Amino acid sequence: MRAFVDQDTCIGCGACAATCPEVFEMNEDGKAVATADTTDENRDDVMEAIEVCPVAAIREEE
Ligand code: SF4
Repeated sequence: MRAFVDQDTCIGCGACAATCPEVFEMNEDGKAVATADTTDENRDDVMEAIEVCPVAAIREEE
């Protein structure tokens, strides 16, 4: 699985990148992007990032 950030919804707050920096980075537009797959090792952090996003811009895709 891999997290996906809806670029139109993301407000660039940086919370996901702060919570789970191994997966989420901020791009040149100031929006978050997922740069790695969700693994057994980072799953808890990815789920926490999804929960802390204030606009629910992150979802998991197969
Ligand atoms: S937490 Fe949500 S709104 Fe904030 S940067 Fe990440 S995806 Fe964007």
